Amino acid sequence: MDAEVFRAWIVTAAGVIDEQRDHLTQLDAAIGDADHGINMARGFGAVLAALEPDPPATPGGVLVLTGSTLISKVGGASGPLYGTWFRRAGKALGDASEVDLPALAGALEAALAGVQKLGAAREGDKTMVDALAPATAAFSKAAAEGVPRADALSALVTAAQAGADATVSMQALKGRASYLGPRSVGHEDPGAASSVLILTALRDVLAAP
Ligand code: ADP
Ligand code: MG
Repeated sequence: MDAEVFRAWIVTAAGVIDEQRDHLTQLDAAIGDADHGINMARGFGAVLAALEPDPPATPGGVLVLTGSTLISKVGGASGPLYGTWFRRAGKALGDASEVDLPALAGALEAALAGVQKLGAAREGDKTMVDALAPATAAFSKAAAEGVPRADALSALVTAAQAGADATVSMQALKGRASYLGPRSVGHEDPGAASSVLILTALRDVLAAP
């Protein structure tokens, strides 16, 4: 997997986030301030513009630029959190020009650790961590077992989706939704939903022949 594949992931993710912008915003309208789709679409639009003129030559470079752009362009909590996620993943990949499945799994582990260090959310707090953490664990396990790439990616997305679905019945303990207390129960967390979109884009691009 080279820089071009990682660039394709980000371009695909940006497209899906743009398509799902209103859906993400509606989820945030229920338990937040109705800007998650707007924040994410604006951020990924800026990322596309940043990648365009001079695409980085390595997978790590693509992800670090993606993360830095999200941190500088997105005002909401999700900007620094996703920005850190991408930057930490990129830094973990270093300056390698080709990335294999175990290296990608290691990068996703580092990315999750960065998000949890910054946001202090644990699984069960009804945040993006509820999608990212089980997805990362399932992917690392699959990569360690040496399963085919498509199967590892399918495990990644299945776990992310199950994690996002599980946020519906959770009470938010972190972020804006936590202000609602028990009234946050009964709605999917917007950041968990956007995490599923980003990881699904990764699967779709990497599983393509
Ligand atoms: P804001 O909450 O500032 O309006 P967004 O609406 O763009 O920002 O993003 C909200 C999402 O950010 C939430 O749905 C949740 O998934 C995620 N989030 C908020 N706080 C945290 C945190 N401390 N740790 C992890 N994720 C968080
Ligand atoms: Mg919001």
